[in-house]
Amino acid sequence: MATARSMVAGVTVAGRPMPQFQHIQVTPLTGACGAEIRGVDLRRPLSPAVLAEVMGAFEHFLVIVFRDQPLTPEQHKSFSRHFGELTDLPQAPIFPGHPDMQEVRREADEPASVVPFTRFHSDSPFLPNPPKCMVMRAIDAPAYGGDTAFANMYLAYEGLSPAMQALANGLRVVYSGKDIWKKNQALDPEKRLRLRTAHDFTEDRLESTHPAVRRHPVSGRKALYVCRAYFKRFEGYGDDESQALLNFFDSLPYRLQYQCRVRWERNTVIVWDNRFSQHCGVHDYEGERRHLVRTTVVGEAPLP
Ligand code: MN
Repeated sequence: MATARSMVAGVTVAGRPMPQFQHIQVTPLTGACGAEIRGVDLRRPLSPAVLAEVMGAFEHFLVIVFRDQPLTPEQHKSFSRHFGELTDLPQAPIFPGHPDMQEVRREADEPASVVPFTRFHSDSPFLPNPPKCMVMRAIDAPAYGGDTAFANMYLAYEGLSPAMQALANGLRVVYSGKDIWKKNQALDPEKRLRLRTAHDFTEDRLESTHPAVRRHPVSGRKALYVCRAYFKRFEGYGDDESQALLNFFDSLPYRLQYQCRVRWERNTVIVWDNRFSQHCGVHDYEGERRHLVRTTVVGEAPLP
């Protein structure tokens, strides 16, 4: 691995020079985002030096992947807390016995549609403080298929012309999670999403207006923060205008040069930045069970 590391050190990856790592092995997945990390056992407490490099890799690559991590729920939560405070979500089903963990589960005989969102999105943008990141582990993964794709939304913003960046900088987006349950009930039973049935989130926490371009609180780097999930409108724009703008911005994460894609194996752990990347599960695992469990780390209110 030493040669692989020195080969990529200093080159530009994910839009910035590749950082140096001394204590962990970091292999970029693509030039856009994502890295696989080896040499770390997440079941054990991490030394400050290792932890600092894991955090550095998370900041740089937005998506970090660890293989063969058979974590207990408590070990999973301990590792997650390095990223911040854990939170629950009003719509995501709870992992039984662990109210501060969620699960994404599809049984082999169920339609793929029980798992929400076949399109690129950021999770729960309707919350006043949408999630900073998710820490997700595969309990059961299909033999093939069911990958998760990610898109680097810094690159999506940086790829815009200065004129379009200026337009995006002035936009604010209304996101609402208020009607997801009502919409779900209106679907045919076999098309319904698996949602949480009860929650104690107040109505005012289910709708928020956020900047369409958000800034990293430390680096100041800007990323596009527009997705179709929970989107209502751009503040001050008519419905047809909002949809036209949305159609353009929502097309950007589909560009291959902004993406990476991760294949799940049992005990794969992925941490992804939900502020500056979007993700999309690929529904191509007919007849296979897929069971993922995760924690959600609360983020800052998006900064303009
Ligand atoms: Mn999601």
